[in-house]
Amino acid sequence: MTATAPPGHASTDLIIVGGGPAGCAAAVMAASVGMRSVLFEPDALCAKIRHIAAIDNVVGGHTTGPELAAAIARDVARTELCEADLGARASEVHAFADHVTVTTDAGREVAAPYAVVATGVGPLSTAAAPWLTVSTDSALPTLWGAKVAERPTTSVLVIGADRPLGTFLRAHPALDATVLVAYPPVDDYKVDEVGHDARVALMPVACLSVRAQGASAVTAEWVDREGRHGAQTVDAAYLNLGSSPASPPGDIVRDSSGYCPPDRQHPRIITAGDLRSARFQRIMAATGSGSEAALRAYYDLRGVPSA
Ligand SMILES: Cc1cc2nc3c(=O)[nH]c(=O)nc-3n(C[C@H](O)[C@H](O)[C@H](O)COP(=O)(O)OP(=O)(O)OC[C@H]3O[C@@H](n4cnc5c(N)ncnc54)[C@H](O)[C@@H]3O)c2cc1C
Repeated sequence: MTATAPPGHASTDLIIVGGGPAGCAAAVMAASVGMRSVLFEPDALCAKIRHIAAIDNVVGGHTTGPELAAAIARDVARTELCEADLGARASEVHAFADHVTVTTDAGREVAAPYAVVATGVGPLSTAAAPWLTVSTDSALPTLWGAKVAERPTTSVLVIGADRPLGTFLRAHPALDATVLVAYPPVDDYKVDEVGHDARVALMPVACLSVRAQGASAVTAEWVDREGRHGAQTVDAAYLNLGSSPASPPGDIVRDSSGYCPPDRQHPRIITAGDLRSARFQRIMAATGSGSEAALRAYYDLRGVPSA
């Protein structure tokens, strides 16, 4: 069932690009139906979820990211049919009539009949937030991984209302501070998840500017949606602007926002996990889509019709 590798390429049954929950689930599912795979991941397996201090939406009993990441990494390690090439970033993904090739930044080239691409998302830069002006010498830290509870803090500004805010509040139950959340209209639907937390003060803004005030304090000035001006100095500010898709170069099709919907791809490239869409960015959705991607390759290889 393995495609004939083009000259210079090693071959396998399935190439997996990205070792987050989606890529790892694809590897485990592929092995369960007898498919060999090579998984490329520049970091550790499930590196992102290792930063999630508190999880409440994963079945199976795991309630912290480090615990879940370690369990998934163990599952991949005992999956003999998967070769996890850690430290390897895919620099090119190309699709042809009967195979896919992936090249890494170290120059390794592998071919397979199908590739699952599950490279997830990265933090959105301030340049992508026209409503925000930041005048600080060093970049503001992201909310993700913030260790704010380790020092006395009475007020925190969170810029943007993306989902890590809920995780942050759950992870810091003892934080006794006002958490000012300044967010643009595009984030309006996201605040329902945190509005019940007494520490949160929601600030729907039209525009916001932030300037440094010492080591970590900042002064924020804003205009709200009714045109009223406001200002406040806070102990610390964190960026929480959202995500942008991180697809590798090559033949992966992106939509206007950079996401890579599975139904727009070459038939031999199957996208999975957060990379698919701005919606459904959850761990269980990622593992489900990674598992489905591996099964789609399995059935397609055997010519089993989808319906
Ligand atoms: C702060 C925070 C808190 C969260 N809390 C929760 C929560 O409580 N519950 C929940 O369900 N979800 C949560 N999420 C979302 C969850 O982390 C994601 O939905 C999930 O990790 C998506 O899995 P994935 O495999 O699609 O992508 P990722 O986990 O992002 O994995 C993608 C992998 O691809 C790798 N990669 C990137 N480019 C390349 C390349 N060129 N070549 C090879 N590999 C590459 C990356 O290194 C990465 O390891 C949270 C996210 C954040 C940021």
